[in-house]
This record gives sequence, structure tokens and C-alpha cells, in this order.
Amino acid sequence: MPRPILATIHPQAIRHNLQRVRSAAPDAKLMCVTKANAYGHGIERAFEGMRAADGFAVLELEEAQRLRRLDWRGPILLLEGVFELRDLELCSRLGVWHTVHCDEQIDWLAAHKTQIPHRVFLKMNSGMNRLGFTPERFRSAYARLNALPQVEEISFVTHFSDADGPRGIAHQLEVFMQVTEDLPGERSACNSAGALIFGSDERARNDWVRPGIVLYGSAPDYPQRTAQDWGLLPAMTLSTKVIGVQNLKAGDTVGYGSAFTADGPMKLGVIACGYADGYPRHCGTDTPVLVNGVRTRLLGRVSMDMICVDLTPAPEAGVGSEVVLWGRSPSTGTLLSIDEVAAAAGTVGYELMCAVAPRVPVVSDEDVLRK
Ligand SMILES: *Cc1c(COP(=O)(O)O)cnc(C)c1O
Repeated sequence: MPRPILATIHPQAIRHNLQRVRSAAPDAKLMCVTKANAYGHGIERAFEGMRAADGFAVLELEEAQRLRRLDWRGPILLLEGVFELRDLELCSRLGVWHTVHCDEQIDWLAAHKTQIPHRVFLKMNSGMNRLGFTPERFRSAYARLNALPQVEEISFVTHFSDADGPRGIAHQLEVFMQVTEDLPGERSACNSAGALIFGSDERARNDWVRPGIVLYGSAPDYPQRTAQDWGLLPAMTLSTKVIGVQNLKAGDTVGYGSAFTADGPMKLGVIACGYADGYPRHCGTDTPVLVNGVRTRLLGRVSMDMICVDLTPAPEAGVGSEVVLWGRSPSTGTLLSIDEVAAAAGTVGYELMCAVAPRVPVVSDEDVLRK
């Protein structure tokens, strides 16, 4: 029998979450972000839930190729553009749009021999100070691009640093809109937090929004709001089973470093999941876990292949009982948000979903239906 750990992807939840973004940003076209292998969900599996998308945004040409192999003929944007001149050939062949954020990428375009002119997204650094032309240099970059026969259409893109926080987007949006005001072309600014929080805001109205995390059921502004507050459903369930049981008495300790000490008799479950599966080692005692759909807590340290949980709330549980680390309990439908587990480890849901380890088998619950 294989080790019982499993990641199950729920395309139906992605479909639902996509509609949530649509209703939050009703005038915008949706470019679903499927970089990092669809945030760890697998592009092919996630795609099933994203057929209503208007486009996709990826990081690597290989991801664009996989979308084309799925017969996606619509828009695909390379979020960081190309990394070298010869990538442009594949862009031409795949009909991929690409971001232009630096002079070198314009040089490469100028040197690129193509029959098919490209659509590019000129990126402004409106305050994030990662990629893009500063507002001062933006219009000269535009003029250069606009003069190239290799370029057919120019759109404008920027990225917010604080869409999910108290600083907000106004300071960046103002610069972006002002500098591009009289330039012809579509605009794209909002990520998930931007689309959910500001999607219906007149000033933030964009031709394209670029939601990522929200599609996978994580709240971009957790803990201000939860996935439940936003009406989002988890797109991934990480599940496993109890593989051992110990009965502790007062004073007994659990695991490496004896990080947990029982203050009375208690039943402990040993779970087939550890940091080598991508479960964060920084989760400590009290991190929530579902056993038979009942909420309980982790005890002591996470080790490479195992964690220990308190079986007090699920006294009937034993070897073989269902465990959910995040997602939805198959038996009861109870939800455990990945955001809660991430917070217990001092990180964000993004990191956990991207970090599910290669040794964890991944299935889609729609594959099961189709068989
Ligand atoms: C990753 C990314 C997004 C999506 O961000 P979320 O917070 O996951 O919605 C949007 N735009 C760019 C440029 C990105 O790199």
C-alpha cells in the first residue's frame, strides 16, 4: 500500500473562485495566473477549473507550451517577459504576449526576426521597485517600442505592493494612470487583492485583472479577511491518515526536543505527513488539523515524515483514520483554510501550496469522476 498522503485538486472550487473574482471586477477581463505550476496545483488540473478565463499569465515559456497543448488558443502573457533573445522565437511560434520591463528586452525585440509582430505589455515600476520602467523613463520606452516593426500592439501593466494592506493602491494607481493617460492601449494593474478589494472602484478599473491566489481559495488579505469571508473554496486538499497511536500520561513528552509535555492522560495520533512533504516545519503545537473531519491540533515539532496530533476531540480515531492538513474533509465537508496553517508557520498560503513536495501524489477529483 502506498503511503497515504495525497493532494487532491478541486477544479469545481477553482470554477467557483473564478466567478467570485468576476463578480468583484465585473468590467475586467480575467487573466488567470498559473505560474509556479498553477501555484502547485498542476497547470493541467487547474486549467479544468479555468475554462471561463479570458487569458492566462505564466512565468515560463514551458508553462505557455503546456497551455497550448491543452488547446488553449486565447491570450497568454509572460509575466516577466523573455529572459533572452532566442525566447522571442518561441513567443512568435506560440503567439504569446510578453511583458517588457527593461531596455535589454527592447534591444532583443529590435534584433528579433519575425513575420508575426508581437503584442507586448510595457511594465511600469510605479513604486514596487521590482520590475519595470520608472514613470520618468516610461514614455521614452514606449516611443522606442512603438517604432519597432516587431511590435504590433502595446498594453500597459504595473504591479501593486500593498493591495492587501493599509497603504493600498492609490499612490501607485495615480502614477500609472497619469503617465499612460493619453497613450492608446489596454491596462492591467490588479492582482487578487486588487481585484477583490478595488475591482469595482472606478479609478482602479482596468481592462485586465491578474488574479492568482484567489483562484486557489486563499484570502489575499488574511487575516483581515478569511477565505470564508470572501466566499472562496479551497482548490487543494492535503490529506493523509493516522498511522500510529500513543496513550500519554501526565509528564510524557512528544517528539524531537520534547517540545510538548502532556499535562494529563491523552491519546495522540501519529500522522503520515512531515516537512519532506512540504508541510511547514515552523508549525508548532496548536496548529489546526482535521481528524475524521473534527478540528484538533498538532503537538510538538514537525519531523521529516511525521507529525503528532491530539486525538482528544476525536476519541474514536485510530490507525487508518482520515486526516486533513488543509482543504476540505472528504467525510464531513469541514473546511480548514491553508491560510490558518500558513499563519501558524509565520508564512502565507502561497508558499504552502507552491511547496507541496514531489513525493506527494496529486490527483484531481474530476479525474476520479471521469474514470
Ligand atoms: C503572481 C502575480 C500576480 C498574481 O498575484 P496574486 O496575489 O496571486 O493574485 C499578478 N501579477 C503579477 C505580475 C504577478 O507576478
